[in-house]
Amino acid sequence: MRLAAAFAGFMALCVTAIAQAPPGLPPLPKLTSPRLYVLDCGTIISHEPERFGLSRQDVSDPDFSDPCFLVMHPKGILLFDTGLTDAQVGRPIYENKMGNEGQLKTTTLKGELADIGVAPDKITYLAISHSHWDHVGNGNAYAGSTWLARKAEYDVMFGPGANTVAKSNYAALAHAKIHYIEGDHDVFGDGSVMLLSTPGHTPGHQSLYVKLTNSGGVVISGDLYHYPAERSLGKMPAREYASGTPESRKKVDDFLARTHSQLWIGHSIDWYRDAVKAPGWYD
Ligand SMILES: [Zn+2]
Repeated sequence: MRLAAAFAGFMALCVTAIAQAPPGLPPLPKLTSPRLYVLDCGTIISHEPERFGLSRQDVSDPDFSDPCFLVMHPKGILLFDTGLTDAQVGRPIYENKMGNEGQLKTTTLKGELADIGVAPDKITYLAISHSHWDHVGNGNAYAGSTWLARKAEYDVMFGPGANTVAKSNYAALAHAKIHYIEGDHDVFGDGSVMLLSTPGHTPGHQSLYVKLTNSGGVVISGDLYHYPAERSLGKMPAREYASGTPESRKKVDDFLARTHSQLWIGHSIDWYRDAVKAPGWYD
């Protein structure tokens, strides 16, 4: 009897141990062509389309989606942008303001990546569209990847004028393995994933091109645009008329026409609402 009870106790311990074991990540797929994931990296509550040369009537929704993007390629993995910081999940908007804009975060980037089998140490390359707070919130968590950086943006990030709140979220990147890139950079060497130099919104701003087998070519704008109406009405923030944005928009328009690609404006809720989101993907 005592033996049976001891055995039952031992089995109960085993079951408990199994139940409490941390779940493993799903296996990474074996790919022959790129796969693109859209990740929810937060929402920005905003009400000033005038900052972008637009009226309230010009935009269907003044708020901004704030996605991150992950490219799985047969030769490695690229994370493009890191969104709002995961530390904001579950916190009220009044705690998380930048200027007049509120920040709403309902999921962690880390958790979304785990759901598709990607631990931070599996990410080969990190790239950011630019260094504003809504794109670098989780920078520190991915400083173990090789950072594909532009010197002009690095100088903004670590120069004397850097936003101190944003900088605290990406400071570890100063110690990352940095690979400086110039012009348009072919990430995996086969032309399927390109970082396009599109300065203007910031000095080292860039957009991401991914050539997908079934979905065709996609250019992810970064903050080259925020609202679709900026594109249809030819508007932009006043300071950007002379900072390079008109030239970068022209360059991307030409690129889209040449490669028969579509443009995704990440901050556009109109686009984001209908996007296939992780754990789904585009290929
Ligand atoms: Zn932004």
